Amino acid sequence: MTYIQKTIADLKCSSPAQTEFYQAVEEVLSSLEPLLETNSRYQQQAIIQRIVEPERQIMFRVPWVDDNGNIQVNKGYRVEFNSALGPYKGGLRFHPSVNAGIVKFLGFEQIFKNALTGLPIGGGKGGANFNPKGRSDSEIMRFCQSFMSELYRHIGPNCDVPAGDIGVGAREIGYMFGQYKRLTGRYEGVLTGKSLLWGGSLVRKEATGYGTVYFAEYMLDERGDNLQGKRCLVSGAGNVAIYAMEKLYQLGATPISCSDSAGTLYHEGGIDLRLIKRLKEEQRCGLDEYLDIYPDAIHTPVADYPKDGHAVWRYVADAAFPCATQNELTLGDAQALLANGCQLVSEGANMPTTHEAVDAFLAAGIAYGPGKAANAGGVATSQLEMAQNASMQTWTFEQVDLRLKQIMKNIFISASDTAKEFGQDGNLVLGANIAGFRRVADAMIEQGV
Ligand code: GLU
Repeated sequence: MTYIQKTIADLKCSSPAQTEFYQAVEEVLSSLEPLLETNSRYQQQAIIQRIVEPERQIMFRVPWVDDNGNIQVNKGYRVEFNSALGPYKGGLRFHPSVNAGIVKFLGFEQIFKNALTGLPIGGGKGGANFNPKGRSDSEIMRFCQSFMSELYRHIGPNCDVPAGDIGVGAREIGYMFGQYKRLTGRYEGVLTGKSLLWGGSLVRKEATGYGTVYFAEYMLDERGDNLQGKRCLVSGAGNVAIYAMEKLYQLGATPISCSDSAGTLYHEGGIDLRLIKRLKEEQRCGLDEYLDIYPDAIHTPVADYPKDGHAVWRYVADAAFPCATQNELTLGDAQALLANGCQLVSEGANMPTTHEAVDAFLAAGIAYGPGKAANAGGVATSQLEMAQNASMQTWTFEQVDLRLKQIMKNIFISASDTAKEFGQDGNLVLGANIAGFRRVADAMIEQGV
């Protein structure tokens, strides 16, 4: 048993059934082996054992009253994972699948993602097992207020700054901000992803999707190629997917699919983004309604998905952008994509690709951008929002977009150079993990035990 294998085994014994967290830990730690072989100080300083243990985990009850007067109770979480580089930073996810393991996996990924941005932000994540689907606006408001009634005592602009994630957008951030202000009497940059009317940053809404596409463009550029004319599969139909599709169109590519929890939409001639925005951002309805306007599009309900994967990855395309959720691209999907000539995968979601599928992409030598590098544009722009709030300034769309582009380029260079340093040219998984880890680990050593 290697040192890393033993650390993972010890971790699993200490608290069972956190599948996604162990998956993320194994994915990161296994790529650190070459670094640990050449550098003994990380072992001497017990950095590996320290880094897999959150600094703090907060779990709390979220009681609220629904529109029928019934009392509902949800579970709320905030994991303050690592503050070596700055205040804890990371989103809140409201989804029925949220549990302690999911929040830990997301918080763990966030540490390295945030480190890769080069900005002074630590890693955290939170959320609740609340299902916003079908809930009225006032139910959402009461839930957000109850959630913040506990969370407010743990966060602040210099210690922990949450943002959105799945199920948490500008509306939810607004209700939570209002409650924070009521409880503390302070108007401060405690959340990011705020409305542009009261302290939000331009480009924050678009940043994760745009950043994922910028990252794809840098990967292709290194191979003497670009996105012009490429046919692209996108999964998801939330904030990340929508703005990835927008940037794809701007760069001359054609997104031909998207998906939601009920099914997959494929439109040969290219997705009508204006219609998707209307269906998802305004009407909050299912993608099947797209067919009312475009009967030539294809909608595949989840029940008809292939047994070993997802319908969205079974179409012929040049590039794939998983922008929905974890483990949404399996080995069967990866094999189908490769057989159909896919040359690039850039992850807008967190850990959307299973371990075996990642290995298949790396073995095939296609351009593969792991989420913690390719989707870091969202959290990076959150930090730009914090900087604007702290300095009481508002930057223009062009200023923020330029910084976002530069950050994505730096992340690509840092992951790519680190991969080369360890003799694994093009392996951005290894490059991103080692580059992110080194920055956090060195900061932890400098700050003492
Ligand atoms: N939820 C996003 C992520 O996974 C953004 C976090 C943030 O802006 O703090 O990185």
